[in-house]
Amino acid sequence: MFTQILETIQNYDTIIIHRHQRPDPDALGSQVGLALLLKEHFPQKTIKVTGCDDPNLTWLAQMNAVSDQEYEGALVIVTDTANSPRIDDERYQKGAYLIKIDHHPADDQYGDLNYVDTTASSTSEIITDFALATGLSLTNEAARLLYAGIVGDTGRFLYPATTSKTLELAAILRNYDFDASLLARMMDTFSLDIAKLQSYVFEHLTIDENGVAYVTLTQELLNKMGLSDLDTGAIVSSPGKIDTVETWAIFVEQPEGYYRVRLRSKSVPINEVAKRHGGGGHLLASGAVSASIEENEAIYQELQKLFEEK
Ligand code: AMP
Repeated sequence: MFTQILETIQNYDTIIIHRHQRPDPDALGSQVGLALLLKEHFPQKTIKVTGCDDPNLTWLAQMNAVSDQEYEGALVIVTDTANSPRIDDERYQKGAYLIKIDHHPADDQYGDLNYVDTTASSTSEIITDFALATGLSLTNEAARLLYAGIVGDTGRFLYPATTSKTLELAAILRNYDFDASLLARMMDTFSLDIAKLQSYVFEHLTIDENGVAYVTLTQELLNKMGLSDLDTGAIVSSPGKIDTVETWAIFVEQPEGYYRVRLRSKSVPINEVAKRHGGGGHLLASGAVSASIEENEAIYQELQKLFEEK
């Protein structure tokens, strides 16, 4: 399938790469890492990346300006995005051919060609695998981005999706010339405001006797702290550091009044709960959308039920 993807890439003069909304390091790493890889080997092609920049991650990578005309006859590749509503920049439909490359469960195969490997820790791992399998050498900057993506999605090689293959590929990336320790520090650094949000999360987390936890972050709170929904990425894994916590939900109120629900688990899969509430994702890291406090309560009860049955 990697050969088929490479052959398709060879057939197009313009390639536009998308990824999911509210990007994390893996979304950016796979998207821009792939773009740099292709630019290196196909310098005559126009290769662009699109989507909204996240101010917290512009140090890692930035997007290009892409005009509507550039989509005419273009190949569009979407990385790290399970379902089409989550693709950042809906012009992904305007190209001539669409390839999806992802590591989430394949619930929505929106591509003309879909490469989904759920055993990969990250989409950046898949892109690294693709480069090695097709004999396309990486650049230092592409290696930095792909390494950042793997580090980000594995929680620095902590989460169960980290395999020996992940480590082998990460070791190959580490041989390129970039400052991996600076990168690790950047990824583990946050502002004082975010530190205060983390403190709020620890102070206000409700934890039941089975380790099912939740916290709600209202718009009023975020505004008072000078933070936004995008900043919650820095604290989403924090409840898991508590020994008694097994699973947790973070309900983030949006300016429109609904809630973004960020679900995580250390053991029992929680993605079915997410699917019942307009979301989905990985077995142990999912997201959903909730219309109200009542729906938040229902989601919390569903999590509690899963852990009662455990
Ligand atoms: P998040 O808490 O937003 O980092 O989401 C964790 C994972 O859940 C992501 O990697 C996505 O795979 C998935 N996810 C989050 N939100 C949604 C959604 N609204 N629909 C489908 N999947 C989602």
